[in-house]
Amino acid sequence: MASYVVDLMHFLDDGGCLVPGHPGRVGAFYARIAATASLHGCEEIVLTALPCRRRPGRVPCPGHIDLIRHEDDTIEWACSDCVDNGFIRGWEATRWDLRPAAGAVPPGDPIDLLLSQDEFAAIRNIDGLSRQVEVLIDGAVRVGGGVRVRGWRAAFTGLVADLGRAATRSRGTRRQTLRTIAERMAELAGEGA
Ligand SMILES: [Zn+2]
Repeated sequence: MASYVVDLMHFLDDGGCLVPGHPGRVGAFYARIAATASLHGCEEIVLTALPCRRRPGRVPCPGHIDLIRHEDDTIEWACSDCVDNGFIRGWEATRWDLRPAAGAVPPGDPIDLLLSQDEFAAIRNIDGLSRQVEVLIDGAVRVGGGVRVRGWRAAFTGLVADLGRAATRSRGTRRQTLRTIAERMAELAGEGA
């Protein structure tokens, strides 16, 4: 499969939101890659926690997206397992450009939370997350067989609240998973004070 270049702007309406329907869903994949790339430094190879979008023979590709943001802000990405790959431009100044404003990094050390792939999958698609919490999720990277979520105390506290609400709306093992993660997170956020 040949590499191709997409311009994120082509997937957005005049208000900067993803267009409806299939093109919007395709654009959402690139938008998440751009958000993750924006949270890491230039020329840094990032092993993201974003799952591959391909389903050869209707079986999801087990790979995740690896990426590098070049000096000219072109994002180069590739699946860790299959041949899916490409380049993204036109993401700067969209709502997925999460580069922190100069001086915006909070004081103190960030907190790291290690999750299994399954735990991360349970929290990454929760609806209605605040921007601060989205940043936590989008910045996640693969470490060993799991996922590392790194952020500051306020964002973790926000995610604990979001997880609590999502758990209330869920049932069975998903509810239990969300509650367990929320408890571990609350503990970490407490220590990070
Ligand atoms: Zn793949």
